[in-house]
Amino acid sequence: MLDLKNKNVLVLGLKKSGCGAVRLLKKINTNIFISDQKEIVRIDGTKYIPYDDIKKELNLFDIIVKSPGIPDDCDIIKAAKKRKVSVISEIELAYTFIPLTKVIVGVTGTNGKTTTTSLITQILKTGNIDAVSVGNIGYTLSDAIIDDSQSDVFVVELSSFQLMDTLYFKPHISVILNIEPNHLDYHKSYKNYLEAKLKILQNITKDSILIYNADDRMIKSKVKQLKCQKYSFSLRNKCDAYVNDDELRYDGYSIIKQGELKLLGRHNLANVLAAILTAKAFYIENEVINTALKAFTSLPHRIQLVRKVNGVSYYNDSKATNVSSTISALNAFKQPLVLILGGYDRDQDFNKVINHPNTAIIICYGQTKIRIATLAHKANKTCFLCSNLQEAVVIATKNTKTLEIVLFSPSCASWDQYDNYEVRGEHFISLVNGIN
Ligand code: ADP
Repeated sequence: MLDLKNKNVLVLGLKKSGCGAVRLLKKINTNIFISDQKEIVRIDGTKYIPYDDIKKELNLFDIIVKSPGIPDDCDIIKAAKKRKVSVISEIELAYTFIPLTKVIVGVTGTNGKTTTTSLITQILKTGNIDAVSVGNIGYTLSDAIIDDSQSDVFVVELSSFQLMDTLYFKPHISVILNIEPNHLDYHKSYKNYLEAKLKILQNITKDSILIYNADDRMIKSKVKQLKCQKYSFSLRNKCDAYVNDDELRYDGYSIIKQGELKLLGRHNLANVLAAILTAKAFYIENEVINTALKAFTSLPHRIQLVRKVNGVSYYNDSKATNVSSTISALNAFKQPLVLILGGYDRDQDFNKVINHPNTAIIICYGQTKIRIATLAHKANKTCFLCSNLQEAVVIATKNTKTLEIVLFSPSCASWDQYDNYEVRGEHFISLVNGIN
């Protein structure tokens, strides 16, 4: 475990996770330094260091708590590592503060983390276990340790950025949903991304529980040699939790019928299976799991039905920031539809989305629009090019003809035109609500 007492700790990046880290550090005897690339921040009990001065002050620090947004290969971090300064994420820091009596469930994967984290927490709560969803979901583990100190279980959503800088972090239960190439602009290679994701397993021991997707060949091969309690789920084959016709089963018992779930899409069945296995690790009864699952509705910005206007249903899937999540959304529908696509360019290949049988009409906007339109043209798909989302919604509305669904599943991050996917999704919702 990391020793923080009497150390000089620099918290680098002062958004949510940085501020949470500072709150925790104040609880012990440490010298806290803070810095942020974008703004001058003052926090009582800390010393502010201008970002440009950090490099020459590096010998001051024992530990740097790095915000997930700061790349590992930036000058400061490279120089710090050379000088053997420990660089950790806020998750690692918070881990040193978690009392031994608490249970940590770590959830990672390329897609489905937030949904699965929320599902697990909801089932545990329905089973009268005091659980809270934390981490990448938007409520930092550091803040939860202070503000939700009564909680017995922390269900931690873990991004690759948070896992990357962990050292001793060891969840009691680790859940790995799927791993596909993502965030390659940041991680530089699939190998680095995979390495970061698999850090969830780095401290695993015989008593740890691992829940994994047996349909994902990469995950399957990576967990094969591990010595721990393993439970697998599959949409295709019989596993500890699996789908049989219309039923989601655990250990042979039917937990819920697919039709009883409010969540759309087969990908969500995988999330539900992972949540069922996690609940079973807490000995939650099948009936309780069934009740919790029946009540669970889709989260905002994830294949969220906004409104039905003139026979056309508009879905907001703004959280689909990569190609594979848009494919999941397209698979969730049984008919061809109008797809609004585009945003920040991360050099993704959109061919699979464009050629999907449910993609009838494409409306593209944002930084990626030309690339999308060119590919759509080659694939002989009808495609409209727009400058922004407002125009895209207008064109979608005019071109639904016999199509009954408009899906906004951009496959791209929002940063070319919005602060984040939530703001983008809210904009789409307001545009749809404005249709007459
Ligand atoms: P994350 O937190 O990992 O980004 P979310 O639960 O927020 O995942 O879902 C994000 C998007 O990914 C959703 O819009 C959905 O279409 C897609 N998705 C969710 N779960 C899965 C899954 N298990 N496999 C593939 N795609 C998924």
